Amino acid sequence: MSRVNDYVKKKFGRYMDQCTKEEIYAALLMFVKEEAEARAIPVKKQEKKKLYYISAEFLIGKLLSNNLINLGIYDEVNDELKKCGKSLSGIEEVEMEPSLGNGGLGRLAACFIDSVASLGLNGDGVGLNYHLGLFKQVFENNLQKETINPWITEKSWLVDTGVSYTVDFGGFSVKSHLYDIDVVGYENRTNKLHLFDIETVDEKIVKGDGIDFDKSDIEKNLTLFLYPDDSDDAGRILRVYQQYFMVSNAAHLIIDEAKERGSNLRDLDQYVVIQINDTHPSMVIPELIRQLMVEGMTIDEAIAVVEKSCAYTNHTILAEALEKWPISFMKKAVPQLMPIIYELHNRIHNKYNDPDVDIINKNDQVCMAHMDIHYGISVNGVAALHTEILKNSELNNFYKLYPQKFNNKTNGITFRRWLLYSNHELSEYIESLIGSGFKKDADELGKLLQYKDDDAVLDKLLQIKANRKKYISDYLKQTQGLTLNPDSIFDVQVKRLHEYKRQQLNLIYTINKYFEIKEGKKPARPITVIFGAKAAPAYIIAKDIIHAILTLSKVIAADPEASPYLNVVMVENYNVTLAEKLIPACDISEQISLASKEASGTGNMKFMLNGAVTLGTMDGANVEIADLVGEDNIFIFGEDSDTVIKRYEDESYVSKKYIEADERIKRAVDFLISDKMLKEGSKENLERFYKELVNKDWFMTFPDVPDYIKVRDEAYAAYEDRRAWAKKMLVNIAKAGFFSSDRTIKEYDRDIWHLS
Ligand SMILES: *Cc1c(COP(=O)(O)O)cnc(C)c1O
Repeated sequence: MSRVNDYVKKKFGRYMDQCTKEEIYAALLMFVKEEAEARAIPVKKQEKKKLYYISAEFLIGKLLSNNLINLGIYDEVNDELKKCGKSLSGIEEVEMEPSLGNGGLGRLAACFIDSVASLGLNGDGVGLNYHLGLFKQVFENNLQKETINPWITEKSWLVDTGVSYTVDFGGFSVKSHLYDIDVVGYENRTNKLHLFDIETVDEKIVKGDGIDFDKSDIEKNLTLFLYPDDSDDAGRILRVYQQYFMVSNAAHLIIDEAKERGSNLRDLDQYVVIQINDTHPSMVIPELIRQLMVEGMTIDEAIAVVEKSCAYTNHTILAEALEKWPISFMKKAVPQLMPIIYELHNRIHNKYNDPDVDIINKNDQVCMAHMDIHYGISVNGVAALHTEILKNSELNNFYKLYPQKFNNKTNGITFRRWLLYSNHELSEYIESLIGSGFKKDADELGKLLQYKDDDAVLDKLLQIKANRKKYISDYLKQTQGLTLNPDSIFDVQVKRLHEYKRQQLNLIYTINKYFEIKEGKKPARPITVIFGAKAAPAYIIAKDIIHAILTLSKVIAADPEASPYLNVVMVENYNVTLAEKLIPACDISEQISLASKEASGTGNMKFMLNGAVTLGTMDGANVEIADLVGEDNIFIFGEDSDTVIKRYEDESYVSKKYIEADERIKRAVDFLISDKMLKEGSKENLERFYKELVNKDWFMTFPDVPDYIKVRDEAYAAYEDRRAWAKKMLVNIAKAGFFSSDRTIKEYDRDIWHLS
């Protein structure tokens, strides 16, 4: 009898075969928590220097299977359950996915804390315990509707630590409450994810089943939602409250723990390094200075030690995402920080006398990224191309001042979740070929290359892919009522909905393909175009694009001439759990952002690792994928980033010119407001989207359409040589080792953190 079954018997007086799913889940939760806790190191006994990875988002996904894998008992538990006539995947359904992130940025933070623990490094995550997290997406009348998404159930991974701090805001203060989630390293130590909360959150202030709530009542709403709608001032200022709450608590925790490990605070930089994940935690800089002054340091001393402890990661060059908070907000929400921010600003202003690098700009806004760059040890981009763009254009003023601070850390993903767990069959097959070394050293995947002409291996890769396609087809039928043909090509674009990611380009291609089929040009094999994406609730055009996709999906499905060859599906509520099931089933990975706009992407890496072939632009980490796999094993199209950046500088883009120049584009764009579409969809949404494309198209969809059509069709043709395709799959898997977040974290440690 296994340990787990004994444990269940001890706790419940019954063995697993006598328990419900819920009981087994509860028992496994307790069991894993105990095993994880046994591997945690008390603060006092931890290494001298410690990393605090502060992030407004940690999109961690479900934890049960992941933790079982990292504890090395996944197979044992799985086998034991099977013996009792149960399955781990059935038990997993009981677990709610914590939706503590929007997308890539939050998922990156989750991969990073996994890798920090798996490498045995001393580092914790710090964030917020949003009760309702990100909204749950439902489709109604082909439109996105947002509903609440509660995830905190009575039995959860959260551990009440009893730690509490007082956080002062302008005019009132709140008491915080710290919950921890164990971060179980892969066959290694347990670190912590610290999530701060307030006691007085009131879920009842949410109106109806949507996500509307009273934004002014901070004591009731502070940790209610992740990033509430920021389209109005009430929402924007709430974000300032949330950010300050996060970093003020973080600073308290950092100081307490540093003292516990022996720091006298004047030497804090030898005990602490803080990674600021995007600008959301930037207020940690003035807040830590403020708290050190409360501890008795002068402002000079406090600044001197803080500026040696903080490092900043930039995630985007989209101007709207670089946070600038009006001084009026800051004075209202966090008045105690303003004297310090003025001091930080004055020092820079007097030193450089250059308004472009000021912390407070001429519009009386605090530029969070500028503060991070001046008062941090490091500024990193998240892929080679992105870092070059930061150095040469976006942050060039700063690069000239501090060339030594700029560095690249190409993003990565944890292979525990995105291969060992999500594609167990592939992982086991790889192990049978090259041994288990790749689980700790991802570069060993390169050993697969010796099989690139081995037909038995290639056929097996195709078989595993076919199995995953069958599995997700059954799953989507059961859970969402969608019908997919597993023998078709699965062409997948799943990621947040944003114009720069260009789901609309995929849509234009698909409409053109529809016309071609109607004209008798039938594809060699049926095509399933799979979308999955949430749009920000206030992002009108993004929601219109979702509407257009859902409407097109219905139009094609209702057309008996086209539907046997072309199926458009959009999965509802794309999240980590769905990603884990969809990505292993993908044939073609759509990574088609406008060159220069996608800082890195991490979805692209997950797909590659699971044997999908990328169809993409030379953007973000796609550039590095292309470099690694070589041109035979990727489908690249479109303009490069220099061309795009230049066109923005010229302000010379006129979308109409490109629409008129290509009959196929014109036909596809016009189709958006055709009778067929209007009959199924809403006039308001379709017309607004049409006008946006015709009159603006800020993310330059159309210059890339002709090349996209050509190259995507080439990819479909290549797919028909199944062995040649399987070889591309194999090369992609073999070369994916570079994108392990273990590699990324080793680089952060080597260049910035110096923990080991
Ligand atoms: C990986 C991931 C993302 C990021 O995808 P990109 O294609 O890099 O934008 C977003 N959401 C979820 C659920 C993910 O797992």
